[in-house]
Amino acid sequence: MAEKFEFYNSLTRKVEEFVPNEPGKVSMYTCGPTVYHYAHIGNIRTYIMQDVLIKALEYAGYDVKRVMNITDVGHLASDADTGEDKMLAGAKREHKSVMEIAKFYTDAFFKDFEAVGNKKPDVIEPATNCIPEFIHMIEVLLEKGYAYLAGGNVYFDTSKLDEYYVFSSAIEKEQLEVGVRDDVEEDSNKKNKTDFVLWFTKSKFEDQALKWDSPWGVGYPGWHIECSCISMKHLGDRLDIHCGGVDNMFPHHTNEIAQSESYLGHKWCGYWFHSNHLNDRAGKMSKSKGAVLTVSVLKEKGYDPLVYRFFCLQSHYRKPLEFSFDVLDNNVAVYNKLVKRVAELKGEGAVDEAVKAEFEKKFREAVCDDLNTSMAITVLYDALKADTNDATKLSLIESFDRVLSLDLIGHAKALSEGAEVDSELLEFINAKISERAEAKKAKDFATADAIRQELLDKGVEIKDTREGVKWQLI
Ligand code: AMP
Ligand code: ZN
Repeated sequence: MAEKFEFYNSLTRKVEEFVPNEPGKVSMYTCGPTVYHYAHIGNIRTYIMQDVLIKALEYAGYDVKRVMNITDVGHLASDADTGEDKMLAGAKREHKSVMEIAKFYTDAFFKDFEAVGNKKPDVIEPATNCIPEFIHMIEVLLEKGYAYLAGGNVYFDTSKLDEYYVFSSAIEKEQLEVGVRDDVEEDSNKKNKTDFVLWFTKSKFEDQALKWDSPWGVGYPGWHIECSCISMKHLGDRLDIHCGGVDNMFPHHTNEIAQSESYLGHKWCGYWFHSNHLNDRAGKMSKSKGAVLTVSVLKEKGYDPLVYRFFCLQSHYRKPLEFSFDVLDNNVAVYNKLVKRVAELKGEGAVDEAVKAEFEKKFREAVCDDLNTSMAITVLYDALKADTNDATKLSLIESFDRVLSLDLIGHAKALSEGAEVDSELLEFINAKISERAEAKKAKDFATADAIRQELLDKGVEIKDTREGVKWQLI
């Protein structure tokens, strides 16, 4: 039996008890990245909070299936179908094909996505895989009278809806009327300002790289259609939770609801989970601003990606969060102190199941209460201070890590092993690891292998991991 779980539903604008369509099971859809550039640490904040949502639901006893799209076509600079095509602009910038750009940035995205402890979605689907599904949905929308052809494009007619749901009263009427975010360019084919493109045939992008045959001519899909279709393809006609950042609410999620419910003829998704933005001192972090701070860059600067996760978990997902290196440095110190405390635990004795259950309950209550991650971390500190044996504490940390994914025990182990090694050996190991990295860079694999063997002879085994080279005494 799954436990009571509450979170803020943007649809009803209140914290609500979550009731899935099928008891114990959760179908979840996440808007994935537009792969024309690196995902910055702001994007990654959104995916960290979604990861915590999934793991908290699992901790509460739910079985979650999660689907994510990859936007590799159709997303224009403004979410309201105006401006440059993002993928095309990326390809031109780097003198590569659109598909090369898509592959490169999809791989880069998942590298950073996983480095911060996120679990990969069960299904990952690029939009370009699903063109027939998009065409089918658009055909149905035309048949049902919810869409029209104008100037060669197919548009969704928002005036046909009883309600064009926009999520937030904070979305200004003016913004809604213009229907754009980044610019004020207007499309004279639209009957209503809030109408949006389902399929482009006549576009200003003569050099549009990806085009497909359709009943309305050779062209490509609008951005919003992909999320409705990909979600229904894998999760059926009734979705439990749809996730995204707050900027996705309008027009993207608004338009997803409009087209999905018009197509289905019934309600589509009951719960909408939106997380707030990461800002830096200059304002909202944005890919389109050019140079972006990524998790990989943090790593190059010597920061452990899990410290970035730790930083994110300490603030609530519905509040904006300001990033600075000073704050991150503070987090490094706090995280390392925490690891040190865990490393001091001896693990002796039997786990006290009653104490364990008591703390697990507190932890579950925190994460099931609109994802109160800072309270969950407080429970972890309380457990470390508790009047119980080390085995119980270690068992609790392991249990909490099913949601927090901070790898405190792994880091503590590495710290203890490091401490057992005398400084001379440590120096030798580090020197050999650097030497081997140089050899690998120069493609001198024979030397790299010889160094590995030299270390092995001294009882040191090395492993190449996502986070870099790790070693242990054998
Ligand atoms: P994109 O690749 O631009 O479509 O964005 C990927 C995800 O990151 C979306 O869910 C956005 O809502 C989210 N996002 C964009 N900018 C930020 C930011 N500054 N902070 C947090 N999330 C963001
Ligand atoms: Zn989407």
